[in-house]
Amino acid sequence: MKKLAIGIDIGGTRTKIGLVGLDSGQVEAMLVTPTETKDGERFLQRIGEAIRQFKHQAAGQRASLAGVGVGVPSFVFADGTVDSTYGFLEFMEDYPLAQKIEEAHGMPCFIDNDARVVALGEAVYGQGKGFRRVLVLTLGTGLGLGFTIDGKLDGPLPFAHMGGHLTITTNEITCYCGKTGCLESLVSASGIRAIAARFQWPQQYPDLPLTAETIFTERQAGNRAAEAIVQEYLGYLKTGIDNYVNLYAPDLIVLGGGIAKGLKPDVDKIHDPQLLNPYKAYKTSIVISTLEEQAGILGSAALLRQALF
Ligand SMILES: [Zn+2]
Repeated sequence: MKKLAIGIDIGGTRTKIGLVGLDSGQVEAMLVTPTETKDGERFLQRIGEAIRQFKHQAAGQRASLAGVGVGVPSFVFADGTVDSTYGFLEFMEDYPLAQKIEEAHGMPCFIDNDARVVALGEAVYGQGKGFRRVLVLTLGTGLGLGFTIDGKLDGPLPFAHMGGHLTITTNEITCYCGKTGCLESLVSASGIRAIAARFQWPQQYPDLPLTAETIFTERQAGNRAAEAIVQEYLGYLKTGIDNYVNLYAPDLIVLGGGIAKGLKPDVDKIHDPQLLNPYKAYKTSIVISTLEEQAGILGSAALLRQALF
């Protein structure tokens, strides 16, 4: 019998809910809803509508629906209780999310930190298939970090979920964690905006939106200021990756998230053999994720798969 799962990817602004074939790794249907950050009941109601719809869809296919996997931008305890990091999701302070979903829908539910879930998705369904030690960096509104060994997460709890806050430089950019010079504050979307502001980008191009996407598009079109901004960005990213290589010794590094797409022309340059191959027998390569929008949903389904089968 065909096995399906519901994968939920809770983002800061949007929550994606998908119906996933557990063996095929195909997202068969996907719904997107604005993330409710203040009211727990309203949050459950919104995702509940999608879960009921997918339950119906699974029944129509006579497939078995194994349960729900969830990725959340927070720390998660073993019992599925969420500790909202820095209050990004206000109501999720010590919130028993897994239990709430299990009670409401009569299915098993497993939850983990979103960046770890994305890493598991890459290891099971994406570029990490066949690699032993896979480090996945999600470059978006923040920097997410997940590490898998032989297709499994490196431990039961997301203790390294603050791994983006490595101090890599001295500067005046203050991270939301309170420190200055954090990798996360430099290689995330806000990092690119901060670098661009230092290069006087808003004054030079008042009509262009100050976004990572604009900078990468302009750079592709030959804009020199955009090129300088991206070069500084790449310098920080390389330093961060150098540190992570020494800590994790990954066989493969996957760059995902909204910013990774803009780095396609640079993958070979980030992959500096001297930087990444300190030992003769050790090889690391860097690739850009191909799962894109679906990485979180697939990872959440993979989390459930790992827990149940
Ligand atoms: Zn920080």
